[in-house]
Amino acid sequence: MSTLEQESGGTWLKAVGSDIPDPSAPLPMRPAWVEVDLKALAGNFQIIRRELRQSVRLLYVLKDEAYGQGAVEAARVALSNGADQLAVYTLEEAVKLRASGIHAPILLLGERTPEELPWLPMHQLTPCIGSVALIRIWNDWARRLGRTLPVHLKINTGMNRFGFSWRAASEWIPALSQLRFLEWTGVLSHFAQSDELDKTFAGIQLDRFQQVLSDLSAAGIHPKLRHLCNSGGFLDLPNAHFDMVRIGLLAHGVYPSQTCRRLNGLTPVLSVKARISAIQRLEVGDSVGYGMRYTAAEPRRIGVIPMGYGDGFPRVRNEGHVLVAGCRAPLVGGVAMDALMVDLTGIPAAEVGSEAVLLGRQGQHEICVHELARLKKSVSYDVLVGWRNRLPRVYIGREKVGSTPSPRLA
Ligand SMILES: *Cc1c(COP(=O)(O)O)cnc(C)c1O
Repeated sequence: MSTLEQESGGTWLKAVGSDIPDPSAPLPMRPAWVEVDLKALAGNFQIIRRELRQSVRLLYVLKDEAYGQGAVEAARVALSNGADQLAVYTLEEAVKLRASGIHAPILLLGERTPEELPWLPMHQLTPCIGSVALIRIWNDWARRLGRTLPVHLKINTGMNRFGFSWRAASEWIPALSQLRFLEWTGVLSHFAQSDELDKTFAGIQLDRFQQVLSDLSAAGIHPKLRHLCNSGGFLDLPNAHFDMVRIGLLAHGVYPSQTCRRLNGLTPVLSVKARISAIQRLEVGDSVGYGMRYTAAEPRRIGVIPMGYGDGFPRVRNEGHVLVAGCRAPLVGGVAMDALMVDLTGIPAAEVGSEAVLLGRQGQHEICVHELARLKKSVSYDVLVGWRNRLPRVYIGREKVGSTPSPRLA
């Protein structure tokens, strides 16, 4: 091969057949995708379930498409492997789950608008409510429907985002006692910090929550499900499990912090992969990409990966790695909207068509969510939900968990 030419790859760029495709056939999948391991998800739920006392319920928080995986697939796996209930933030997310035939209880986190409330009963959705004004409207809807409606009372114990203030319990509890048409299904609060070594503030929030519970009880309000823990609290604050825990991140095999407790066997669910689409030979002094941010000091072999910041990859330059042929290949130049370039000089086995791992394992190496979070100057949660929908979701391990096939994430 001439050094002036692009490499053509071994088995990848082979001659194709002569048949023109049927226009109604699915398009070929782009050579870049998010891979979701449903068997790992199922295993993680079994591990989490075993950590809980029998009487404690497991609520799976699958907001934002189950942290980027696709909520419908994830819900089915979770519910058949130990989860009892589901929670999302938006009405659209919840209705989509119902439309796909999911009947488990669904809790809407956050605060509703008054316009949303009348839509909840017809889809069997339960709101969290954290203000007297809104809970009165909910009670009025129940009266108009001639039945009771369920609610989880959201208590603000220091997060200062949503909820009835722990500090003002003597003001709002008497107002609740007037409401005749509501069913006190649950009461919850949310930790501002539960996964760091210092549990001081978590302890303060726990005390405030306990205080509100006893004030409610004194007023004759006895919610059935008391819940406080997210993944961090579930791992590190077993005395705060109450009647239910709310798990999101951990179910996906990712720990909320470096310091929280580890669970044996937990496996990351989400990987991101692509196939090398071109390989360029660089001479001394040649540069790579927009702005000429990388210049070769010696001859280099550069692989082009067909994924960029338009797919959610962090917009870094000359920073980070991908895995190719079982090796770590460093990024060179800046990440573009649709492509990024890596140095393959030391990896002769890499060729056009080779699979590159941008998140996940290959051979002995791993690019973990936290590594990408550092590149993105953000948190693991943001990395998981940051993969855009133009990356197809490919589900593997489905046969092992007994769920039914469903379309890819729209
Ligand atoms: C997202 C969320 C959770 C789940 O948190 P993880 O850290 O992902 O387990 C629990 N409760 C509420 C209110 C949330 O918003």
